[in-house]
Amino acid sequence: MSKTVQAMIPNMQSVETLEKSVAPVPPVPASSSTFHLLVESTAFSGNPAAAGEGSVAGAAVLVVPAGVSALPIHAGAELRLTAAPTESPMEAPILEPILLRDGQPRLLLVIPASCAVRVNEGRAPRVIVMRERDQFQFEPGHVFHVAVFCHRQQTGPAPASYVGKPCPICLTLFTDDPASICYRCQCGTLLHLQDSPGLECARAVRECPHCHQPISLEEGYSWLPNLES
Ligand SMILES: [Zn+2]
Ligand SMILES: [Zn+2]
Repeated sequence: MSKTVQAMIPNMQSVETLEKSVAPVPPVPASSSTFHLLVESTAFSGNPAAAGEGSVAGAAVLVVPAGVSALPIHAGAELRLTAAPTESPMEAPILEPILLRDGQPRLLLVIPASCAVRVNEGRAPRVIVMRERDQFQFEPGHVFHVAVFCHRQQTGPAPASYVGKPCPICLTLFTDDPASICYRCQCGTLLHLQDSPGLECARAVRECPHCHQPISLEEGYSWLPNLES
């Protein structure tokens, strides 16, 4: 081991210790929800279940991955999301899931100049921020419904950094009692879920009081389009 590396190690350790001591918020799950595009089966030929990554309520499902992906819509294109092209000009619409500052998920859609897109029945601008229940359609072409698939959120005893702080629903302070089970939203908000005095704050509200995302104690969609078959 060289002297330089040896000299670096104490520094690295001290940085690590420093990070531990100054990090007040425990890591929040990277993604507690995922955008799914539900593609109306009446809008394309073929078996909906054979396209995309499965089907829900008769619609093919496209799971929107983290980061930037492209949605090829040229004639004969397979119904799937691909890695975004790096060359310009942009040929396919680009999608990217984003989180607003308060933790609410949004889906960014960037449309090439050559495409005409309708969003919620109106002509779309080139860049649009969509939310759950929005829908978009290339003219003429598939209808894509924006749905949010909620993954089960973290539950467990209150992390040390929350102990002594109030629950935003009942204002009772969180304790380090391992039998007190809490629910943690994607935005970092902690709520009582199961506590000996009977505090079940996460069950008493439908949505997070901070970011307004639905409380998801089970996996699944928080909304599904009413598709005509
Ligand atoms: Zn509470
Ligand atoms: Zn929240």
